Amino acid sequence: MKDFLDELDKELSLPEDIDVLDQTETEMEKENHAEIKPVKKEIVVIKNNRIMNDVIKAIPMSKKEGDSSTNKKVIVHNHNNNHNHNKTKVENNQIIGDDNIKKTSNNGEHEIRWKFISKFPDTKFYLPALRQGYTRYMPIWGNNETWAKNMWMVQYDEDIILIDCWVQFADPDMLGVNYSIPDVSFLTKYKKNIKGFLITHAHLDHIGSLKHVMPALWMPTLYATRFTLWLIKKIFEEAWLLSYANLIEVDSHTGQKIKIWKFSVEFFNVNHSVPDCAWIYLESEGGTKIVHTWDFKIDHTPAIDKPADLDRIESIWKRWISLFLSDSTWSTRKGFSMSEKNVWEELEKIVSNHTKWRLIIATFSSWISRIQQLVDICEKYDKTIFLSGRSMVENVAIAKELWYLNIKQGIVKKMTPKNTKGVAPHNQIIITTWSQWEEFSALTRMAEWKHNSVEVIKWDTVIFSSSIVPWNEKSVISIINKLIHLWANVITKDDWEVHTWGHAFQEEQKIFLQLVKPKYFMPIFWDLYFRTVHKNTAVDTGFNEENILMLDNGNMVDFAPNNGNVFKSRIKAPIQELVIDGFGMWLANSHVIQAREKMMNSWVLVISFKVDKKTKAILGHMKLESRGLVYLDEVRFIHRLIIKKARDVYENTVKDVPDIEEKDLLKIIRLDLEKFLLHRLDREPMIIPMVVEV
Ligand SMILES: [Zn+2]
Repeated sequence: MKDFLDELDKELSLPEDIDVLDQTETEMEKENHAEIKPVKKEIVVIKNNRIMNDVIKAIPMSKKEGDSSTNKKVIVHNHNNNHNHNKTKVENNQIIGDDNIKKTSNNGEHEIRWKFISKFPDTKFYLPALRQGYTRYMPIWGNNETWAKNMWMVQYDEDIILIDCWVQFADPDMLGVNYSIPDVSFLTKYKKNIKGFLITHAHLDHIGSLKHVMPALWMPTLYATRFTLWLIKKIFEEAWLLSYANLIEVDSHTGQKIKIWKFSVEFFNVNHSVPDCAWIYLESEGGTKIVHTWDFKIDHTPAIDKPADLDRIESIWKRWISLFLSDSTWSTRKGFSMSEKNVWEELEKIVSNHTKWRLIIATFSSWISRIQQLVDICEKYDKTIFLSGRSMVENVAIAKELWYLNIKQGIVKKMTPKNTKGVAPHNQIIITTWSQWEEFSALTRMAEWKHNSVEVIKWDTVIFSSSIVPWNEKSVISIINKLIHLWANVITKDDWEVHTWGHAFQEEQKIFLQLVKPKYFMPIFWDLYFRTVHKNTAVDTGFNEENILMLDNGNMVDFAPNNGNVFKSRIKAPIQELVIDGFGMWLANSHVIQAREKMMNSWVLVISFKVDKKTKAILGHMKLESRGLVYLDEVRFIHRLIIKKARDVYENTVKDVPDIEEKDLLKIIRLDLEKFLLHRLDREPMIIPMVVEV
């Protein structure tokens, strides 16, 4: 990979530790860990910022000071030499990061390196007692929302296992906050019981908030497949948590069984839009057997992954599955989802016939198979690929290092003016991020001419080779508009088959249900509408409707021992969303967000009264400022009306209740003015009255 990075012109901004395990480093690792006892061969453990690729060893739970219920006060510091001067303080198991943790970069400049928050609110909620031998399952997130938010819990006896951990980045409704994460505060009192964190795949809506959630739960051991684990490693590294993490790589192809306290767990390889996606099979000591799936599809001819492991899945019914969960994302789509192979053919046609200026292809940076397809096509037609966007460059580097990507020397370079020099424009294939969450993704910057090396011009062709999900359709269309304004040629899925979906269509959903033959079935993910269509598909295949569980987030179902019946708890866990707003973590329905909502929908009116301290009489003219409330033609008239009304309300109130407290006075003024404006103008601004006594 070092060669590869050199090839990318050494300008690659990878975090320092995502570098190659070359021979020297491996030898060092051997020395460093000479005392470690070897365990099962299949398990690869990450420790001290390295995956032990060739020395397959397990590390005992890292000795974190205070990692016990008796000692709650801990000081943890990062072991990475570069960051030793920055300490992170952990109190009562909450990590309070320095507000601006800085590091010195190679060129001597200071930059904000990282800031993370793991301070969850207090929630008074106790999980209801679980009867002996019963196994509990609960969607914490994943049902009942249009957004992709994923997190589940399984409990047997006192042992808890969590699955996946979403993040959502800012959308227009989030009003200025950076991103949102699940509130796990009700779980923090059970942190001693959380025995493992299982991850299905590497999309951010499954791993993105681990850096906040894991420290609050005392860093339980995390299990994932190889590619997923590396992306998690990158997240932890950037949050300076890697030294405290126990990350265990699991094999989803061989039927490797992992014992996690009172659970036996197995990963199954399935296809999706990111490598190494897995189903998870969990069996409790109570004899309940759950097949947990999340995003998946069947692809008999995937670009890089192996096809879904149908042989193993086919025989899973013999275990008598208690519960099968299945992805409802595209439950409305009939037939089968398209194979990656079809996209290859379409992309090849486009690339081979492209003789005009540059070809810019926008895709998700985690869609490694799409990138491999483009690499192969470009090699065949003697084109050069230029990567644009930090996550694109980083993910490609990781995938190449792990051999998910096979790239011949000289085919792929980083997008810089220096690198493109001498390459004819029609031989330049620029692969760029079009993240559905990043407003300022590389493509947006190119379309707005804010990119440091690519400005889209008249003869360029831009291909959207990634999905347009309903909630970001508007912003995609806005980018397309910008590109068309620049006279670029735009190709989307509507013009060519340049994209496949990462989720199963109806026929695949039916096949899996018939293969697994569970006692109970639960359609999961997305709105009730999509889950209900999935339920109807299951009923059409002859599945007993009474055995289909439709659960809201926070609902719990308890399974009787040995594939027994299910019981739904009347108690519902409090499911809340937290927003990360600058340097703080807050409830998504906090008064700040409510106020922002009001300002967005209603506008602002500030009115100030200068009054005599003793007599309370208004002195001089009243001041009024409004934003977004009145139009130019009406401003004088309306401001005069408001001032007159405000003066009347103030004077009457002070006359009626001379010793009224200021806060009550302000409230009366605000409410009366609100009523008045609604009545006179049919408008509802946010009103901020102020009284200044002189
Ligand atoms: Zn996914």
